[in-house]
Formats: sequence, structure tokens, C-alpha cells
Amino acid sequence: MKIPFNKVYLTNSEIAYIKTALESGHICGDGFYTKSVEFLIEERVQTEKVFMTTSGTHALEMAAMMIGLNPGDEVIMPSFTFPSTANAVMLRGAIPVFCEVEESHLSIDPNDILKKITRKTKAIIAVHYAGISCDMERIMKIAGDHKLFLIEDAAQGFNSQYRNRYLGSMGHLGCFSFHATKNYTGGEGGALLVNDKRLVKTAETIRNMGTNQSEFLRKEIDKYSWVGIGSKYVPSDILMAFLYAQLQEIDHITEKRRFIYDYYSYHLKKYVDQGIFQIPLIPADCRSNYHLFYLLFSHPQMRDQVLDELNMKEVEGVIHFVPLHSSPMGQKLGYRREDLPFTEQVGNSLLRLPVYNSITEEELDYVVKTLADILERKLNAGKLIRCYSSL
Ligand SMILES: *Cc1c(COP(=O)(O)O)cnc(C)c1O
Repeated sequence: MKIPFNKVYLTNSEIAYIKTALESGHICGDGFYTKSVEFLIEERVQTEKVFMTTSGTHALEMAAMMIGLNPGDEVIMPSFTFPSTANAVMLRGAIPVFCEVEESHLSIDPNDILKKITRKTKAIIAVHYAGISCDMERIMKIAGDHKLFLIEDAAQGFNSQYRNRYLGSMGHLGCFSFHATKNYTGGEGGALLVNDKRLVKTAETIRNMGTNQSEFLRKEIDKYSWVGIGSKYVPSDILMAFLYAQLQEIDHITEKRRFIYDYYSYHLKKYVDQGIFQIPLIPADCRSNYHLFYLLFSHPQMRDQVLDELNMKEVEGVIHFVPLHSSPMGQKLGYRREDLPFTEQVGNSLLRLPVYNSITEEELDYVVKTLADILERKLNAGKLIRCYSSL
């Protein structure tokens, strides 16, 4: 049996909605499906305004543009994230300042944020890893106390909650991704959530080439013109038709992924108890969208060996993230590996198991059995290092 890492899941409606979009003749941006998706997300996550974008990366770029970053400004973010989080800041000439993550959920560590605040700090980007929230109570307090903008990189976190509030709706701005590897997809796509009313107009202008075209389309003005710096982040209505089909099944998809999470957790608990690896734990005050499932080994060598053997048996595990601070670009910025030792260890010791909406119980069983075989053989040979005490 061959188990890929990811497989695109289709509902029954994508083609029908795309056909409707094509027949309507409106295939550029901000058509019926874009508006429908924006409305659906606004209703669900309870935010002031949602703007659909061409990607999660572009939502982050918009957010960085909107908070008026200037060259030399500093933005605190975890090193354990996707390069887009840092690129968004660097494209404005500002400086990403990398932080450690917390051991319990691998999201940004508030204690380290406090250590890295300087007079130049302008914002914090809180990345919600694996669809599980950061410690938002502390992070929101830090941002408030120090008068910093708070941007949530909730690219992996659509439909997850922290204390009954949806991820993406708590900072000044929030970003979602609907890339093909995320839970819900348009192939490519993203969304910017504007939670602060005062920023809505700025977002609208930046997203539409620095013009007041949106006001023109709403017939509020009789011609539109260039009013500021912007770009174009508007997705095609064809992609939004695809995404709309997926979002019709929000809860159904989350249920499917909960089953996967529960299956892996239950069948791998034995190894967690033995201290061989850690798995994602969902705190009592959080609800997850079960975006991904990882095994965090106590030693990089073990991760590498298990990964090789899994791949040999055609179970496609993957690694991520290469921490930004120790990547070639991070080194150009002056970071050394040892600056963030815990992040470095996580990047070298984490293995992701296949998770996709359409994975069957038979496939899950194959993944678990294959992994158990590998681990048992190593345990018998005395080759597994146990480091984590059982939780
Ligand atoms: C996927 C992801 C992004 C980028 O989203 P795209 O839609 O692929 O541009 C940004 N940040 C994080 C944490 C992500 O997981």
C-alpha cells in the first residue's frame, strides 16, 4: 500500500460552482463566489471584515503593508514558521526578530517575546502552529502593554478556536491560507481578516492597486483613481467557487480530521508513554482543526532513521520547518544555529505523518502498523533513545 503525505479532497460541488462562475461571465475578482466566501467566513469567525486574497503569503504581505512598517522597524515572530511570515516583513524593509516556541504546542513563546522587545519593535506575528492556538491571553496582553500591532498567522488555523474565539479574529489582523496542503482549499488562496474597524479602508485600497475602485464598484463615487501605495491581491472568482464548495463542508472536514487525530493518538499512545516521541496535545481551552499530526522525537538521528524506513515502506512522512533563523537567509541576517537551540532541535527532530481528508481507516491502520514495526524492531535492538518523560 502506498500512502501519500497529502491528497486533495473534493466535495461534490466544485465543478458545478465553477461552471456557474463561468456561465455568469464574471471570472475576475470580487464576484459572487468571492463575496459568498467572505460572508461565510465573516459569519463564522466573527470579524469586522474579510478580504479574500490570492494566497496566505499575500494576506501576510498585506498585513505588513497595512501596519505601516518602516525600514529598521522590528517585528517579533517565531523562527519555527513558513518563510512567508518573515518575507512579508522584509519586503517592507523591516527586520524579523526570531523567537523560540513553547515545548507544549510549538507556537511562539511569550517569555521570549518579552526578552526581544526593543524600542524599534512595532509588531508581533503569532503563528498558530498545527491549528492549535498560541497562548493568546499572554500575547494579547504583551501587545497591549507595549502598544504593538498583533498579527495572527493563522494560515494553518481556519476553524480552530481559543477560549471560544476563532483563530485569526483576536489580533488587529489575521491571515488564513487555502493552499492545497491546508484543510480547506481553493488550490491557491488566502484571506485577510481585519478585526480593527479603522483598518478596513486601508485594506481595501492596498488590495486594489492602491485605488478606491471598491468604492466606485459600490457606486459611492463616480470614478476611481490612484490614492495610495498598493498591489493586487484579488483572487479569481473561479478559485473562490472551488473554495466555496469546500467551505460548505467545514464541519464535516473537521470531523474527518478529528477522526485521524484520534486514531493516531490512540494507537501511538504506547510510544508516547514510553517517552519515544511527543504528539500534538490540544489544551483544554482550545479547539483544533487538526491540521497536522507530528511525532517529535528526542533525537534528530532517530527522526531521520524512522523517516527513511517509513518512506521505504511507501508511507510518505515529511519534515518541516527548517527553522528560519538557521536557514541560509537567517544566517545572512546574522543568526547562528545556537541562538534558538530549542527551535533548532524541533526542526531536526519532527516528523509529520500523512493527514488528508479522504484517508481511510485501512490506510491509517497501515501507517500505524508500519510505524509500530519500525519502532518495535529498534526497541528490541536497544536502539531507541527515550528522552521524554511520560506526560
Ligand atoms: C501555509 C502557510 C503560509 C503560506 O500560505 P500560502 O497560502 O501557501 O501562501 C504562511 N504561514 C504558515 C504558518 C503556513 O503554514
